[in-house]
Amino acid sequence: MRLLLVEDDRMIGDSLVRGLGDDGYHVDWVRDGVAATAALADAAANFALVLLDWGLPRQSGIEVLRELRARHSLVPVLMITARDTLEDRVQGLDAGADDYLVKPFALAEVKARIRSLLRRHEARASAELVHGTLVLDPVRHEVRLRGAPVAITPREFALLRVLLSRPGAVHSRTQLEQSLYGWSEAIDSNVIEVIIHTVRRKLGAAIIDNVRGVGWRIGAPP
Ligand code: CA
Repeated sequence: MRLLLVEDDRMIGDSLVRGLGDDGYHVDWVRDGVAATAALADAAANFALVLLDWGLPRQSGIEVLRELRARHSLVPVLMITARDTLEDRVQGLDAGADDYLVKPFALAEVKARIRSLLRRHEARASAELVHGTLVLDPVRHEVRLRGAPVAITPREFALLRVLLSRPGAVHSRTQLEQSLYGWSEAIDSNVIEVIIHTVRRKLGAAIIDNVRGVGWRIGAPP
């Protein structure tokens, strides 16, 4: 299992890479916020979890976290930091951290928190998304409408999953492109419209609402 460690302190980083390696995790280690944002923009989906220090050179951990969540990544983030005021903890959690660990910490506690976050994330990631008679099943990678499986492409599945994950939220074209494609992939300007068109053809036009000039959201339940 691959983890991203973002930590500028060499001693803490070394001990985490070694300690987590003993448990079979593969740890990619970057030492500043800009490198972290670059790694996550390219490949957030490749990491099972991010260990993120708050105080970092070039870009703070909290900014890295905000950028990550702005791209709708759900990868679990465990903040590690020397800050321990209530205000800091609230700010970290509000920015999208899943858990919080204050330095100095014991390796055994980091490992326990990682296991706990991975279990929670796994349960959430494998839960079916239900919208009226439409069911999206992430484990079988299957969409069912009124109980019958619908043939659907991986991109169509990904688009539906993004929209169903946050019912009511309007997603801009840029947000959807970033959720469905890596930053380095070259894509046509109308690719999102094409995917929406085919999803509507399969599931009914009302399944996706267009909010003029803003973007799209999940429509009325079928
Ligand atoms: Ca630091």
